[in-house]
Amino acid sequence: MSDRPHPMAGGSWPPPPDRRALHALLHREPAAGLLRRDPDGRGFAAWQAQARATLRERLGPIPDAADPREPVAVEEVGTDTPHGVPLRRVVVETLPGVRAVAWIGEPERRDAPGPAVLVHPGHFSPDDRPADGPADAVPGSADGGYQRGFGLGFLRAGCTTLTLEPLGMGHRRDPAAAAAAPPDDATAGCRPAAELALAYGTTLAALRVHEARVLLTVLAGLPGVDPERIGMAGISGGGTVTLLTAALDERIAAAIVSGYVNRFADSVLAMPHCLCNFIPGLAAELDIPDIAALLAPRPLLVSAGGDDPIFPSAGLDAALPVIRRGYQLAGTPENLRVDRFRGGHTWNPGPDLAFLAEFLGPAA
Ligand SMILES: [Zn+2]
Repeated sequence: MSDRPHPMAGGSWPPPPDRRALHALLHREPAAGLLRRDPDGRGFAAWQAQARATLRERLGPIPDAADPREPVAVEEVGTDTPHGVPLRRVVVETLPGVRAVAWIGEPERRDAPGPAVLVHPGHFSPDDRPADGPADAVPGSADGGYQRGFGLGFLRAGCTTLTLEPLGMGHRRDPAAAAAAPPDDATAGCRPAAELALAYGTTLAALRVHEARVLLTVLAGLPGVDPERIGMAGISGGGTVTLLTAALDERIAAAIVSGYVNRFADSVLAMPHCLCNFIPGLAAELDIPDIAALLAPRPLLVSAGGDDPIFPSAGLDAALPVIRRGYQLAGTPENLRVDRFRGGHTWNPGPDLAFLAEFLGPAA
């Protein structure tokens, strides 16, 4: 007789949740990550080029996508005035048959081309949109909610803004998903697009990055905009797209990423997150801070609430040394700024405007 316990002996009931065991089983340190590859100052640009190629590959291809830097037609469809601020509502075909909705805000007076910001809101649901008329339906414009009107803040500070409505949200929420989900479900609209993309070997993130890059071209072509002084800002799911877009498109001169920078293992993979976060195979190659290091030497403001429950502080503690290493290797450690504020998963107004003024120059 063997001394080994019978497989049916002992045990516990119920078994523990699988997530932790599966994570331990599947987790790998990012193979193409900055610390693993450990380039010196001279090798940093080559690491960035290779990591960008890996990121593009993992995001996945988009069939029939034109070069997002090519000019596109902009259709004006009206004006909305959230909080008394006029915004031109426009429709732009970003992919064949795919029409994005965006709002352009222009400062009242501008004598010469000035700074601009591409504004990418995070998840919002029909319940998050104030009921007092279509004017307030501009995502990211409302004073209430976790986004705290950050797009309007940039406009009031004198920047031209282009605020896009993320694919799957707002006017672009899938009707079947909208009918099936409660009105406070902010992620229901992402699922149909994310599922289609994943099934065909690409990602919703790739589609959103492509749209952001097309709208960046629109923004850069506006008469009041200096194309050398364009920033991008986003929170939460909008922070995801901001980080990915700025990593791949060097036309973005400075970026503000709020409520997102962390490690995959501590945030997106540690608790329920929307399907739009998932890019097959990416976590095995690059972590969020590696992607952030692709922005160096361009200025980056990382904004995070100390009590953010879905992008926890401990994950940011672990991510920041990697990003700092990237900025040191680029020779511009001063271009990485970190705003850790008392609060949760929300925009923190104030440091964002100071950052833009410092790095994109005066608005007037
Ligand atoms: Zn989503």
